[in-house]
Amino acid sequence: MSMIEFHDVEKYYGKFHALKDINLTIDRGEVVTIIGPSGSGKSTLLRTINGLERVQSGQLIVNDFDLADKKTDMNRIRKNVGMVFQHFNLYANKTVMENITLGPTLVLKSNKEQAREEALKLLDQVGLREKADSYPSALSGGQKQRIAIARSLAMKPKALLFDEPTSALDPETIGDVLDVMKDIAKQGMTMVVVTHEMGFARHVGDRIVFMSDGEILEDATDVGAFFDH
Ligand code: ADP
Ligand code: ADP
Repeated sequence: MSMIEFHDVEKYYGKFHALKDINLTIDRGEVVTIIGPSGSGKSTLLRTINGLERVQSGQLIVNDFDLADKKTDMNRIRKNVGMVFQHFNLYANKTVMENITLGPTLVLKSNKEQAREEALKLLDQVGLREKADSYPSALSGGQKQRIAIARSLAMKPKALLFDEPTSALDPETIGDVLDVMKDIAKQGMTMVVVTHEMGFARHVGDRIVFMSDGEILEDATDVGAFFDH
């Protein structure tokens, strides 16, 4: 049932203790929002889940594989766990279509026509089919982020991580991105979302994890009660 399990996880950057005794289990299909002050370890926590950062002790299991086990294929973990960044990370010299089909053709070995068809479906899902042949520079921040999400989905991930996906956006484009994320949540995707968007946390998330100083201070399944106290 579980997609992600942290057991007594510790993470240091040199001597700096970035994650302290993290215990957290996230089920398949669950939408967990991570909140907390800047520097509290939210991004570090996300990055450990797809192996961008290693943990020094404890156990971290993702999609039934232990990230500390040398037999675990980290490329496979990254394929199964997508990540959406604050600054989109789109390829500037590739069209929207190329951005989306690159991973499927190179990594999943999909044939080009099939990858294109999938990409068009995803562009419909994020409401940007007409941008297929545009370059990222011609898009607003919110549009770039919706394309970045489509690109992640094209890899058919089992979970999606979002690291402050709306923090770099103009306020008027945030709503469209949140709508896309809500739609993905409804389809049953396992999502871990670091965000300052309390509306999303409250209305879309199943659970809120509050971090401070590298620790999980609160893990609230009763999202309404979390906001009321
Ligand atoms: P948040 O996402 O909550 O803002 P981060 O996970 O980015 O927090 O950072 C937590 C702490 O770890 C911060 O004090 C930050 O300076 C430190 N940190 C993050 N990444 C590194 C790194 N690569 N090397 C050293 N320290 C880091
Ligand atoms: P995928 O979608 O990458 O094929 P699945 O979870 O469907 O992953 O697993 C397919 C097979 O690959 C299974 O036998 C599974 O045990 C193995 N597998 C999945 N992820 C990993 C991993 N990170 N490291 C090693 N083997 C894996």
